[in-house]
Amino acid sequence: MPLKVLIIGAGVCGPALATMLRRADPDMHKYEEITVIERAPKLREGLQIDIRAQGISVMRKMGLLEPLRKRVVPENGVCFVDAQGRAYAEFRKNDSGHGAQAMTSEYEIMRGDLVDLMYRTSLGLSPDRADNEKPLEYSITSSGNVHYRFDVTVTDISQDDSTVTVTFSDGRRERYDLVVGADGQSSRTRRMVLRDSEASFRSLNLFTAYFRVPRSVADRGWMTWHMMPGRRCVHTRSGDSQKPTQVYMSVRTSRSIDAYGVASAVAKSSSASSSIVSAQKEAFAAAFDDQKGWRVPELVEALRNSPDDDGGDFYAAEVGQVHCDRWVSGRVVLLGDAGYCPSPITGMGTTLSLVGAYILAGELARHADEDVPAALKAYEDGLRPFVKEAQKLPPGAPDILFAESAWAVWFLTTMISLMAKLRLYDLIVRFLPEDKGGLKIPEYPELKMDN
Ligand SMILES: Cc1cc2nc3c(=O)[nH]c(=O)nc-3n(C[C@H](O)[C@H](O)[C@H](O)COP(=O)(O)OP(=O)(O)OC[C@H]3O[C@@H](n4cnc5c(N)ncnc54)[C@H](O)[C@@H]3O)c2cc1C
Repeated sequence: MPLKVLIIGAGVCGPALATMLRRADPDMHKYEEITVIERAPKLREGLQIDIRAQGISVMRKMGLLEPLRKRVVPENGVCFVDAQGRAYAEFRKNDSGHGAQAMTSEYEIMRGDLVDLMYRTSLGLSPDRADNEKPLEYSITSSGNVHYRFDVTVTDISQDDSTVTVTFSDGRRERYDLVVGADGQSSRTRRMVLRDSEASFRSLNLFTAYFRVPRSVADRGWMTWHMMPGRRCVHTRSGDSQKPTQVYMSVRTSRSIDAYGVASAVAKSSSASSSIVSAQKEAFAAAFDDQKGWRVPELVEALRNSPDDDGGDFYAAEVGQVHCDRWVSGRVVLLGDAGYCPSPITGMGTTLSLVGAYILAGELARHADEDVPAALKAYEDGLRPFVKEAQKLPPGAPDILFAESAWAVWFLTTMISLMAKLRLYDLIVRFLPEDKGGLKIPEYPELKMDN
């Protein structure tokens, strides 16, 4: 019997999975219907994300490495600046073709551009946009057996051995053979199907606000990083000269200490009425008010003056990881950040979500239609080593880059400056393997990828 599949979340891995399922089954014998639902009224954007390690292999196998290259943000690398705005250390990206990706990957991309790329390919459209075509604006939401529905979410999931019954926020009730929760770090699917879900989010006690400001002459195509006492930092990213500059303001604190009130402001909600957005902005602005170095006052002012309903450009989140003992409950499975978010600190979130989609699609293709539970078990077993590796934090992170006292900031900047002068970081990167943990992704000829 052909399968009816529901994917919850049109982020990165939801549409990537739809693409792989569709391509593995060109005659539509295996999948009767692949429906992707998205809570937002349209595809969401976000700031810069990167693809590394095994994620690059998945993109190559999907035949999407060249379309990806056309959309990359050509960021030069990471540059640390002091309060006077002087660059005291620069770490270039590693585009030598040897070793591992550096802090800036060769494959940096705006999240909206990657989501757009996956969405197009899942609908069988060309991955390349025409010159005058705007991203994320489509009239087509259905092609072959793939269908998208926006502005809808799931309110209930129940299941027996052979079927999952899903109730949607628009009142519809439908039955599926497989439900995939690809709904991100705060996954509602996870909360609905895993009993110990609350314990699965491990905070890294870091709170970050993301927003954009008009470009300034100071923006030179680098990620520019400024550290301040009180465990705070601000960085900007300006790799794409056609786009506004991205700003990230981060505070290391915990929910219980809640320095500057950022934790309680973020806890209110991440998807946002304008009054909540306004409170979050004010909390982050106030947290940096006392800092007069580099461009901090100008960025704080820009944050305060930005409109609260600017189409989701402002985004504040608690940085953390998702650790679950299992990602499968019957015929419901978690994919990407929903099941195993490694946090932006590892740089592996997007990569892991792509590897997850690849292994899930591969195991479904390898197993017979009636063997969905066996395919899900094989997905869980096959993916676990990648997740374990990707969730490892760099030594000392995130603490090491968030110093409390002015003296500790001075010490840290001296060390970073020394590392740059001696080119130690460059050397380390050149000799590290790119594939994290040396793990190779499995081969699935059943996916008919030919790359
Ligand atoms: C708006 C946004 C901005 C982001 N910006 C950054 C960034 O600047 N830097 C960075 O490193 N990472 C960012 N991320 C996270 C990053 O995209 C992921 O870590 C990574 O790409 C893995 O993707 P994913 O597909 O697993 O999850 P995500 O990319 O988080 O996608 C999940 C999708 O599911 C949707 N969704 C959530 N709940 C429901 C629901 N109940 N019903 C239906 N749909 C639902 C969301 O709207 C989203 O489209 C952002 C995520 C989002 C949603």
